[in-house]
Amino acid sequence: MNDLEERTLYMDHAATTFMKPEVLAAMAPYFSEHFGNPSSLYRFAGEPRNGVEAARGQVAAAIGAGPEEIFFTAGGTEADNWAIKGVALANRKHGDHIVTSAIEHHAVLHTCEWLERQGFSVTYLPVDEFGRVDPGDVEEAITDRTILVSAMTANNEIGTIQPVAEIGRVAHDHGVLFHTDAVQAIGAVPIDVDAMNIDLLSLSGHKFYGPKGTGALYIRRGTRVETLIHGGGQERRRRAGTENVPGIVGLGRAIELATADIAGHNRRIASMRDRLVRGILDAIPDSRLNGHPTERLANNANFSFRYVEGESILLLLNARGICASTGSACSSGSLEPSHVLLAIGLPHEEAHGSLRLTLGDANTEDDVDYVLEVLPEVIGRLREISPLTPPSPRVPEAE
Ligand SMILES: *Cc1c(COP(=O)(O)O)cnc(C)c1O
Repeated sequence: MNDLEERTLYMDHAATTFMKPEVLAAMAPYFSEHFGNPSSLYRFAGEPRNGVEAARGQVAAAIGAGPEEIFFTAGGTEADNWAIKGVALANRKHGDHIVTSAIEHHAVLHTCEWLERQGFSVTYLPVDEFGRVDPGDVEEAITDRTILVSAMTANNEIGTIQPVAEIGRVAHDHGVLFHTDAVQAIGAVPIDVDAMNIDLLSLSGHKFYGPKGTGALYIRRGTRVETLIHGGGQERRRRAGTENVPGIVGLGRAIELATADIAGHNRRIASMRDRLVRGILDAIPDSRLNGHPTERLANNANFSFRYVEGESILLLLNARGICASTGSACSSGSLEPSHVLLAIGLPHEEAHGSLRLTLGDANTEDDVDYVLEVLPEVIGRLREISPLTPPSPRVPEAE
């Protein structure tokens, strides 16, 4: 086998990240010697309980919250469900209207659609061509029935960062709660829940080099949120079930590492990302970068290539050892193009020909070089065989 065939290069960190060795090391004792149930009263419970509470402090410190405002969940999806359904059910007396955006993750959108079937009404705000929500639109959408605004901190497909503090300010000016899905933002966007006017915030361990199936919901002190998971008295009676102690410990260590030097991390990743973007746009005609030119996650590059299919790009990249994604990874298998790319105004054909490359901590300049070598070949080959490609003007028509 030659080098190229053996090479595997992962550029899909928005889908999930590898777990850092320090995180695994922090978790390991909680699978073995510290196996006790944190709720028990004997000595075996002490260390697990300490581990969980230390992690609560680490998560709180990372977002400027108090430890008593952090509740552990089984991931970002559960945190989004809890925030939105929990606020809706607890505040029904005050109103039945929710404002969100058209480009939220399905954990938010499908939750809102379910609430519509329960009699709530939801406004899905449009975004501009770069994927930004206009805080003025939020203000116009709010009525005296509105109980919640939910807008993600940063988009998982195109990386656009929302004006979260302004959206939160508008919500608060009208006495409305503000939730943000910060799953993609942790470790990339500095978060301060007070300065950013956030009442509820969702995060997920496996998006920042922590374990899968772990997450947390921040709930501002005094916020009315219904409990969804009933059972024992864990998480101060608000989320039942024996704690995932090793996972929670790993989440805590991972968020501490991810937020230790956000600016330095972003500088390193963005410089590789920017070279990747320039190289691809220069080498491949009829290509465009989706998302905001500057207000975007440092690790995100999302392209559209005309005349080709995203799935075909992925197959050929995969054959050369490059792991990437197209459209929305969560809706792969469906024929509908990404709701995010449609919302920023891409025609169906261009939305179908999209490619998302998301860099991470293990990527190197060599990886960028390799993608810059392989991708133009792949797009060129696909365009040669695509019935959509217009005939090249340099090739005279057959007489
Ligand atoms: C991955 C993701 C989620 C879901 O988190 P899980 O922990 O995988 O359930 C929610 N929102 C966004 C923006 C995401 O990227």
